[in-house]
Amino acid sequence: MIGEEDYDHLYKLVLVGDATVGKTHILSRYIKGTLPKAPTATIGVEFATRTVSLDAGCTVKAQIWDTAGQERYRAITSAHYRRAVGALLVYDITKPATFKSCQRWMEELRSNAEPDIVIMLVGNKVDLAEKHAGDRQVDFDTAADFASQQGLLFEEASAVTGANIKLCFEKLLREI
Ligand code: GDP
Ligand code: MG
Repeated sequence: MIGEEDYDHLYKLVLVGDATVGKTHILSRYIKGTLPKAPTATIGVEFATRTVSLDAGCTVKAQIWDTAGQERYRAITSAHYRRAVGALLVYDITKPATFKSCQRWMEELRSNAEPDIVIMLVGNKVDLAEKHAGDRQVDFDTAADFASQQGLLFEEASAVTGANIKLCFEKLLREI
């Protein structure tokens, strides 16, 4: 067991992306292993933490900041981004508009967070495409190309099934 106060590094991470892409569900899945109780849009947790042991005996404490729905009004304060060294930039693979917004979220991150912030692009709700292939509206390759052009890490995931959620955070933390 790793004690909560026993760690080598403390990293602030932020969750960004349009409203309803699944940020709060991703955080809850990663921190608690379960999904949040609906409705989630109005719950204003500032951040949650998880201490993880990475390779080479390095233990990091991730302090992960979620929004309380301010992204709906593009009203996220600069305090949300301040000193963030990593970000999960989330879109919904069934909603192309949420993927298009990623450009703007990246600019917001680059101008408000640490200059060398590491960004993991996450295509969430992949479970929907597994159920009905026609629900997929953003190609894996399109997103992967965008990520490589922009120097972002990239994964598709599902907060509902839990697929790749832990992987997204751990790849991001390793890169940081
Ligand atoms: P946020 O506004 O980005 O924080 O999004 P929420 O976490 O509140 O989720 C918005 C909606 O998307 C909720 O109705 C969730 O049940 C749904 N949702 C979130 N993640 C997933 C997922 O991986 N798969 C599916 N099918 N639905 C999801
Ligand atoms: Mg939310």
